[in-house]
Amino acid sequence: MAFWGDYHTHTVYSHGRGTVEENVLAARARGLKAIALTDHGISGYPQNLHPADLPAFLSDVKASREAHPDVTVLAGIEANLVSLKGDLDLTEEWQDKLDLIICGFHGIRVPDSLSGILNFWLPNLFPTKNLRRRVMKNTDAYINAMRRFRVSIISHPLREIPCDLRVLGEAAKEYGVYIELNSKKCLFTPKDFEVLANTGCRFICDSDAHEPERVGDFSAVELFEAAGLDKSLIANWEAFPTFR
Ligand SMILES: [Zn+2]
Ligand SMILES: [Zn+2]
Repeated sequence: MAFWGDYHTHTVYSHGRGTVEENVLAARARGLKAIALTDHGISGYPQNLHPADLPAFLSDVKASREAHPDVTVLAGIEANLVSLKGDLDLTEEWQDKLDLIICGFHGIRVPDSLSGILNFWLPNLFPTKNLRRRVMKNTDAYINAMRRFRVSIISHPLREIPCDLRVLGEAAKEYGVYIELNSKKCLFTPKDFEVLANTGCRFICDSDAHEPERVGDFSAVELFEAAGLDKSLIANWEAFPTFR
């Protein structure tokens, strides 16, 4: 009775502390059957996977995969949502080379485009009174990203960015995207869990580890269970998720 894989971990390629191999070894030591390395990306920003490092990252993942055939090792990315149109800081070329695309909003990542800064980033960092309108726009931004990119997980919804969980959950179900229970910080209330579960969407529980010691931390599941939901709704509970 256990989680089979941790699909959101960071390494030294962004601002994590462990190497790819150290994260994989940590996963293995905790009895996991799968791990994804999902650094922040892409941009020249120091906290993100630098474009020039992609070949080295992929080669490290390949080496760990070959060294540990008993563990499924996925090369992924936690791409930043950077505009209302659903732009991610991800190119088609990168998308084709990666096994798993996570989409998340991080206020620390300043969008490259002026419209991303003015219409999306600034209003979320410096909220105005018109919350309802911003919630609708943010939700549309997530949905646009799911439509345009091969996103498989929405990381830590509600963190730094309000959105309509019912509409988000319905879209996630339609596109086959998992809503993340993030063990670093899960902001869902019992009511939020209920709203999401009623949409029929599926969940995934991850550590979002930035150090090997936290790989395999699935503590967010406690909130999920406290809300009265069944772990069978979580794709990596005693199963392998199906990614787009
Ligand atoms: Zn994140
Ligand atoms: Zn993360």
